[in-house]
Amino acid sequence: MIRSDNGYFGEFGGRFVPEILLPALTELEDLFFGLRDDPAFWQEFVTLCQEFSGRPTPLTPLRRLSKQLGGAQIWLKREDLNHSGAHKVNNVLGQGLLVQRMGKQRVIAETGAGQHGLATAIMAARLGLEATIYMGAEDIERQYSNVFWMRQLGSSVVGVTTGAQTLKEALDEALRDWAASVETTHYVLGTACGPAPFPELVSYFQSIISDEIKEQSQRQMGRLPDEIVACVGGGSNAMGAFGAFLDDHEVALVGVEAGGLSLEDGKHSIRLSQNTGETGIAQGYKTLFLQNDDGQLGDTHSIAAGLDYVGVSPILAYLSQQGRVIPESATDDEVTEAFSLLMKTEGIIPALESAHGLAGGFKRAKQMKPEQNVVINLSGRGDKDIFTVARAFPQREWTEFLQREAVRSTEALAKKRGH
Ligand SMILES: *Cc1c(COP(=O)(O)O)cnc(C)c1O
Repeated sequence: MIRSDNGYFGEFGGRFVPEILLPALTELEDLFFGLRDDPAFWQEFVTLCQEFSGRPTPLTPLRRLSKQLGGAQIWLKREDLNHSGAHKVNNVLGQGLLVQRMGKQRVIAETGAGQHGLATAIMAARLGLEATIYMGAEDIERQYSNVFWMRQLGSSVVGVTTGAQTLKEALDEALRDWAASVETTHYVLGTACGPAPFPELVSYFQSIISDEIKEQSQRQMGRLPDEIVACVGGGSNAMGAFGAFLDDHEVALVGVEAGGLSLEDGKHSIRLSQNTGETGIAQGYKTLFLQNDDGQLGDTHSIAAGLDYVGVSPILAYLSQQGRVIPESATDDEVTEAFSLLMKTEGIIPALESAHGLAGGFKRAKQMKPEQNVVINLSGRGDKDIFTVARAFPQREWTEFLQREAVRSTEALAKKRGH
């Protein structure tokens, strides 16, 4: 796994935060640097993931689909089979172990689509910690089922009503909380971004994915795969899938970003591959950000909420600059097509984020030979995306289903209120 040079990966990374937060980041870094080479600590983490989250997740061959596409053999790393349905829980459980060692009793997090908030709420309940999750009021509205579960798990979910009421405002609010509570509180960052040591620390815990891929591919293919493909939002599932292979130069590493609707500003979330991202400093770190002409953070779009992000892991920015990671992108249309193909041919329901990896991986596999192997990291399951998918495939029965559900819930609410 890659190591930073004092928090930097080439020109990217660093730690750009208010003075008051520096001691907490240094404490976290010292603790992490002291533990990361300790095999007993790694084993404690692996055992927690095994006992609580069903690890190791399988490496599933897609026999029918590979034959149909006529290229390389395609395999899926099944992070969708984790507890809570995605890879995010790996990182969150790892940070939970650090929180216990720091003796802190409370965690906070910010969440956009709610998946990281849900994973954090699960970890806090399991480890007996208090949790506060910040979420834009707009996102609470859109992702209410996650909010419901977080509250049932005992976390408090705070709606943020400033600005556009989405992830960015939630992040500001969480940082304000942390500045006031840093003595007792740990900030659980959800992806391989943010100030050092988070990109390195999150990638370390997620590298349990590539450790397993390495072992499983030796056993199931008899050698290492030719390519590993992962979708890139902030970059944590990609770094997790790539981490153990960085020095295996015969293994190509491919990151697939959200191509959205088009290459027009605001219509996609491509930071690495089309010269759309520009180096800048924001949200506590230096990386390639989508920016508009006056240097403000730009707007983004993706059909997958988890890829709809303006920055990217400084580690991936560096590795793609170095040519070690090959950046690609997939449009919303390519994604929905890959999504359907996987469902109908193999009986697996992918998250829309993960379907970007599928779209990119299928395209590349078609150009390869049948004796070659491609592993696609299936970062999560698609249950959460039911309404988005139903809207993307507007067959009549699904439109009617959505309308019926909307009417039913409005009626139920009215009844409860006594009308
Ligand atoms: C959050 C999420 C992502 C994007 O985050 P990364 O840090 O880039 O991995 C991808 N897939 C799923 C299923 C997610 O929930």
